[in-house]
Amino acid sequence: MIDKDLSYGLDGQVALVTGAGKGIGRACALALAQAGADIVLGLRDKGTGGALVQEIESLNRRSLPVQMDVSKLPEIKTAVETAVAHFGRIDILVNNAGIGPPNPAEQVTESDFDATVAVNLKGTFFTAQAVGKVMIQQGYGRIVNISSQAGFVALPRESVYCMTKAAISHLTKCLALEWAPHNITVNSVAPTFIKTPGTRKWLDDDAFRVSVMERIPLGRIGDPMDVAASVRFLVSPAASLITGTTLMIDGGWTIQ
Ligand code: NAD
Repeated sequence: MIDKDLSYGLDGQVALVTGAGKGIGRACALALAQAGADIVLGLRDKGTGGALVQEIESLNRRSLPVQMDVSKLPEIKTAVETAVAHFGRIDILVNNAGIGPPNPAEQVTESDFDATVAVNLKGTFFTAQAVGKVMIQQGYGRIVNISSQAGFVALPRESVYCMTKAAISHLTKCLALEWAPHNITVNSVAPTFIKTPGTRKWLDDDAFRVSVMERIPLGRIGDPMDVAASVRFLVSPAASLITGTTLMIDGGWTIQ
């Protein structure tokens, strides 16, 4: 007899996904909806959510697009308030929005540095804070931050990006410790190269793509749904004792 909830379903739950418009964020929104959650779509430009709203509704789930540039604290606050006013709660947060302007370290500009930290770190932290307050009130929450293999191994021309992704994995531990008493788990996933609109321009380059494939023992570049599947697991009842961890989704890149 099994006396634990080993299910992966999310029926009746509400999830907020930041940067939900495309790429990994879009995949997470669809994967969580397919598992039964209603979805708040955090969008840098709220007007871009139409097609995704329809896709979620075709899965018989509700969705709410909200204006949410995560580098702007007032937009985070309003988006979270709007989500709670609409759905009454937020059970799941996927902190996905992120940018990584490629620059050799000696050429990084202050504006690139500030923009990357503003989205990847400040945005991740203050979105977690705003949603964390709601989750503390509820006595329940599941947060997944999107880190990267770049937080574990150095990638050339990505020093600022790598720095922010390493920080996200450590922040994950800090928040997991603080909020564990409130039945909130906080985890990260760390993908290798994934085919998304953000990486297409590099992965379309044959030499670059081959060099990436050579570093991945499993021999393939990831799809957004590879990441979404792990996110879906980490927010499911089956993962209820997992917190503070970063799950590598890297085809083995970082084991070498
Ligand atoms: P993408 O560029 O394809 O999409 C990024 C999404 O984030 C877009 O919807 C964009 O509108 C949104 N976004 C950017 N700035 C924002 C802001 N200020 N506020 C709100 N939304 C904003 O990116 P992706 O490849 O899907 O990456 C998503 C996340 O996964 C990022 O955090 C990225 O660092 C991480 N990641 C990606 C890869 C990869 O190879 N694609 C690998 C590891 C980690």
